Parts: sequence; C-alpha cells; structure tokens
Amino acid sequence: MDCLFCKIIAGEIPSAKVYEDEFVFAFKDIQPIAPVHYLFVPKPHICCAKKITAENSGSVAKIFEAIAKVAEDEGLESYRVINNCGEDAGQSVMHLHFHLLAGKKMGWGEQSLG
Ligand code: 5GP
Ligand code: ZN
Repeated sequence: MDCLFCKIIAGEIPSAKVYEDEFVFAFKDIQPIAPVHYLFVPKPHICCAKKITAENSGSVAKIFEAIAKVAEDEGLESYRVINNCGEDAGQSVMHLHFHLLAGKKMGWGEQSLG
C-alpha cells in the first residue's frame, strides 16, 4: 500500500519519533503550526475517522493514552488534539492521525491555527 504514514511507521521514510509502542507511533510534524506539533497515528492502517469501528477503535484509545503520557512527560499543561477527516476539513494524508498542538495560546475558530 502506498501510504506515507505506513512508510514512516515502518521506518522506510525517516521521521523525528517522539513515542512508540505496540499500537501507536508518534512523530514531529514536518510543518509545525505550534511550538509543539506532533502526529499520533495507529500502527494498523485506518484511512480516516469515518472508518473507526467497534473492531479497530481500541487503536484510538491507545492513541489518547499515548498523548496523555507524552504530555505528562513533556510537562504540557494545555494542549489541543485535532483530527481532520476528509478533504474539506483539511485531511491531506489518508492514514488516521491526531495532531497534538501545544506551546502557544490558541484561539478558537476556523482561522485560529492557520
Ligand atoms: P492533515 O492535513 O492530513 O490533517 O495532516 C497531515 C500532516 O502531516 C500535516 O500537518 C503535514 O505537515 C504532515 N506531514 C506531511 N508529510 C509529512 C512527512 O513526510 N513527515 C512528517 N513528519 N510530517 C508530514
Ligand atoms: Zn497507512
């Protein structure tokens, strides 16, 4: 399968890894929009939030456990977690991922992170 994030998980494309366990891989976003900008992805390929089911939703739980661990380790008091699902929402890589953003005061609204 020609999937960028599957290749990053497999180590075929280099990334700045920040966390890894049996279920989750996390790495620095190549174009950060906040001082802390990490991507958390499930190791099994899931294209997007639309395809989360009772069978694979355990991966999402593991991702949020990993986010809590990394945030604790890095002393992040405040942070935002974002999933873009579908083209209009800004999803550009079709492997489910959650953006972890921190390190700046964030507004709320469509343009607030652009
Ligand atoms: P999306 O727009 O799909 O929600 O998020 C995809 C994210 O992946 C973007 O923030 C983009 O900067 C990041 N990204 C795209 N290609 C690469 C890459 O090769 N390496 C890393 N580390 N991040 C990437
Ligand atoms: Zn993939």
